[in-house]
Amino acid sequence: MIINNSKKCLCCGGCVSICPKDAIVLKNMKIHIDKDKCIGCKKCVLFCPVDAMEFVEEKQ
Ligand code: SF4
Ligand code: SF4
Repeated sequence: MIINNSKKCLCCGGCVSICPKDAIVLKNMKIHIDKDKCIGCKKCVLFCPVDAMEFVEEKQ
């Protein structure tokens, strides 16, 4: 799953536009990720200029 590091995030909104599944929403200067929509493509991780998106293995 993808997690957002709010300490690093600049709320530029770039990842919101790049996500092919519209899984990322910027609301009240915070990034929310809909993990049911996310397909784990990591485009947001690669795109983010400040490495605020992280991919972590989901615990079983
Ligand atoms: S691209 Fe990075 S800095 Fe910009 S809103 Fe997304 S997580 Fe935050
Ligand atoms: S990994 Fe892909 S589908 Fe998931 S939030 Fe990032 S860009 Fe969207």
